[in-house]
Order: sequence, then C-alpha cells, then structure tokens
Amino acid sequence: MTFDDELKRSVKKVIVSERELKKAIKALGKKMTKDLEGEDLVVVGLLTGCIPFLPDLLKELKLKVLVNYIQASSYEGQESSGKVKIGGVLKESIVGKHVVLVDDIIDTGVTLKELSKYLYDNGAKKVTTCVLASKIGTRKVDFEADYKALEVPNEFVFGYGLDYDGYYRNLPYIAALKDELYK
Ligand code: 5GP
Ligand code: MG
Repeated sequence: MTFDDELKRSVKKVIVSERELKKAIKALGKKMTKDLEGEDLVVVGLLTGCIPFLPDLLKELKLKVLVNYIQASSYEGQESSGKVKIGGVLKESIVGKHVVLVDDIIDTGVTLKELSKYLYDNGAKKVTTCVLASKIGTRKVDFEADYKALEVPNEFVFGYGLDYDGYYRNLPYIAALKDELYK
C-alpha cells in the first residue's frame, strides 16, 4: 500500500492546512518577538512533538535565544495517562533564565503544568509556555498556555509533530483521526 493510501485510511479530514499553519506560526512569532524582546531567553522544546513546530517558530523569532530540549511523555496511545515522565535538560543553561517551553499541543494541561514546575525547580527565573495547538474545553488542571498558534476541536489530531501511534509527525498539515479508529 502506498503512503497516500495508508494515510487515507486514517484521516477524517484536514483540520489545519499547511498554508494556515505557516500563517499562524508567522503571526505567533511576530507577537512573541514583540513581547519577549530584551529577555534572557532559553527556548526549550519538548521532544518529539515540538518538531517541526519549533524550528519553524525559531525562524520567526527575531530574538537572541539559546535552544535546548527536554523529553516528557504523558500519553500512551490516544489517552492521557495523567502522569508525566521527564527526561533531563542541561541545568546550567536555564538557571536564572527566562525559559520558553514549546510543545505541540495542550490537552488536559498536565504536561505543561508539570514541566513548568520542573523548570522552576531547576532554577528558571520565569517559564513561559507556547504550543502549536490548543484543544478547546479539555483542561483537567488549572493551567493555560501563554502562547498558542491555533485552536483545535476536542478530537484526536495528528500531523506536523503530532503522532498517530508514533507515525505521521512528518505531515505538513494537521488532520483529525477517523472516529472508528479513535479508541
Ligand atoms: P496534556 O498533558 O495537556 O493532556 O497533553 C499534552 C500531550 O499529549 C501533548 O504533548 C501531546 O503529546 C499529547 N496529545 C494531546 N492531545 C493529542 C492529540 O490530539 N493528538 C496527539 N497526537 N497527541 C496529543
Ligand atoms: Mg507531547
């Protein structure tokens, strides 16, 4: 089966097109550039979902920034496990700095809340959170992302960094998964 045939079996519809993504990221970069000017910034990307969002966003930030990565996962399959496993970040580089934490999507809010706490515990002066997509009406904890490129409905979405069972992060758009595949 070709890549396209296989993809067609999973995609219900394209939610955010490549063109819309580019436009939203450009606008977000412009806003962040304006807001964060003069700050001592470390952009920390959450692997693996922050790719390709982070590199695209970085190109729109007209700011002096350091770039770092952290690993965390709260999802197993399609359901949030409610627990966050954190992999290390270089401590030295965030002490006393303004950290901009970048993830693919905010859903329950647990991941960003836990990660923010972790970064503060490790010496960050300030933590600002930024996501490509924000799910509407799904927060389970009192936490909101500071910056969001776009909003998506409460469906399982994939593409552009968001995976479906590990695959399709390389799609240049965001799609919703077919209802019958949603567990
Ligand atoms: P939260 O902790 O806010 O519930 O979830 C954040 C993480 O769950 C994201 O970093 C992302 O990996 C994953 N996630 C949440 N919703 C979706 C979704 O619709 N599709 C995919 N692929 N991942 C999601
Ligand atoms: Mg993630």
